[in-house]
Amino acid sequence: MNRQGVLTVVSGFSGAGKGSVMKSLLKKYNYELSISATTRTPRTGEEHGREYFFLTREEFQGMIDKHELIEWAEYVGNYYGTPKNYVNKQLKSGKDVILEIEIQGALKVKEQFPNAILIFITPPTTEELKSRLIGRGTEGIDKIKQRLQRAADEVIHMDDYDYIVLNKTGKIDECVETIHYIIQNEHCKTINNKNFINKIQDELKANKEGDL
Ligand code: 5GP
Repeated sequence: MNRQGVLTVVSGFSGAGKGSVMKSLLKKYNYELSISATTRTPRTGEEHGREYFFLTREEFQGMIDKHELIEWAEYVGNYYGTPKNYVNKQLKSGKDVILEIEIQGALKVKEQFPNAILIFITPPTTEELKSRLIGRGTEGIDKIKQRLQRAADEVIHMDDYDYIVLNKTGKIDECVETIHYIIQNEHCKTINNKNFINKIQDELKANKEGDL
């Protein structure tokens, strides 16, 4: 059956644990995670082409100019964007694609792909969010403050998402399963089964006499 893949956008406050949830989800299930382009410097252990395509501002601007990005946004002083080619190719071949991007980008994706599922991951409390950001130890105090300020701006747009999924401390598997169910559920929607419906309608119409 020639079925398009489902496009899912996952967002959440910085420190919500999206990265760990995504890692676990991809390890367990067969989803394609799009690798974004960014102008931010790699963190220790990050590799070009694995976590991100780490680009200069000029290179990033080149991608914008050539319309090679589905969307792009500025986040805490750096640019981030989703390469178009990879996503379209995977969806066409029937693969389910996940974008792990921030809110402005997510809303732009929804404009271009109205059937995309928007999932927002959040810790259950603000206190937990703060302690995770501090505990992660990858950013200095100024960057942490900026990321918290950004969360205060982002919270306004939570309503624009289709699903809110809690990532409770120590319960990462629960979060992973919930996301997996949401995506699988999408496969059952009539809108995603048009080819199948047409085929079975044709077959049964041709078999009106009840031939066995
Ligand atoms: P980080 O610097 O922590 O890796 O990412 C910062 C933020 O940028 C996160 O909220 C992440 O989801 C978002 N982000 C990563 N890639 C993209 C992208 O391609 N587009 C947009 N709009 N946001 C992205």
